[in-house]
Amino acid sequence: MQGAQGDLLRLVATGKAESRADLARLSGLAASSVSLRVEELIDAGLLAEEGSGASRGGRRPRRLRLSPTAGVLAVADLGAHHVRLGLLDLSGTPLVVEERSCEIADGPRATLDRIADAFDELVAAHVPAGVPIRGVGTGIPGPVDPATRRVVTPSRMPGWNDFLVADHLASRYDLPILVENDANLMAAGEARWWPDHENLMVVKAGTGIGCGVIVNGRLHRGRGAAGDISHVRVRSDSSVICACGHPDCLEAYASGAALMTALSEAGIKVTRPADIVGLVHDAVPEATSLVRNAGRRIGEVLTVLVNFFNPDVIAVGGSLSAAEPLITSIRAAVWERCLPLATRDLEIAPARAGRDAALLGAGALLLEAALTET
Ligand SMILES: [Zn+2]
Repeated sequence: MQGAQGDLLRLVATGKAESRADLARLSGLAASSVSLRVEELIDAGLLAEEGSGASRGGRRPRRLRLSPTAGVLAVADLGAHHVRLGLLDLSGTPLVVEERSCEIADGPRATLDRIADAFDELVAAHVPAGVPIRGVGTGIPGPVDPATRRVVTPSRMPGWNDFLVADHLASRYDLPILVENDANLMAAGEARWWPDHENLMVVKAGTGIGCGVIVNGRLHRGRGAAGDISHVRVRSDSSVICACGHPDCLEAYASGAALMTALSEAGIKVTRPADIVGLVHDAVPEATSLVRNAGRRIGEVLTVLVNFFNPDVIAVGGSLSAAEPLITSIRAAVWERCLPLATRDLEIAPARAGRDAALLGAGALLLEAALTET
């Protein structure tokens, strides 16, 4: 159902709709509902309508377009050692994207101030005077409570537990603010690349393991932990204590961090998950075998979820997903163990949205937040 104002705005911004009649047809809304929402969007300075309505030969529909001064969204995707930053127009199209080094272990205040400083620089360099920022958002590589938007017991984020991220950003921006788990953002961005599919699981395989869930085309947050597969217990002959304190979590065996530890114990030096992908491309047997095992373990956890949730698509992204044996092993595990009915039309595929998936997802969610606060 494309009923929200953000959906109408997006239909215009992406060129799919040029008139109120187009919007009614594409959204399924009544003409009167469309008109009401279009008026609100025009009043908010987001849409503009051209044309007088009358012309030779009958009524010419007035043409809708995104207002040139509608504004921009400032979005970030924070990783362990870097941050990806972007300014998007309100259709979600990136105006500029760049990556800067940034140590999350420096703690929340220093990290968030660095992000805000970077936003200010990007806006000064790329946004004409008079065009407003409509919202600010960031992805966090850890669990976020959607009610308070504080970070809750994250791994590998010293000093961040219980930190009120949104409040800190609000001290700098009097704007709608989005704070969201990074895998959720990635899922929201990825969902736009599967327009014919309503139910997706989007796995982020990087330093950690995350998963975002799309139900009926919308991000499903639950109480904040939805999709968190990293601390599911896996079967193992040995016993490894996870960073969370419990033994044998998926993350302790199959995350990029776990694989890097295993490789360094084998005398192979790696500093980030992308290095593992490089080793797999170079056919280093230890790396290939570790990635294959990681894929199998992730796949075994997913088998339960596929039978239970029965998604249309499992999209696998994150820096480790570029290692081909990862997806092959996930697919093999799911195909071997799941009910035939559950896998009959299931696609297990590399994520399509690319490196900016989380930024695009942040833009889509932030636009909705900005419109509901308008
Ligand atoms: Zn754990």
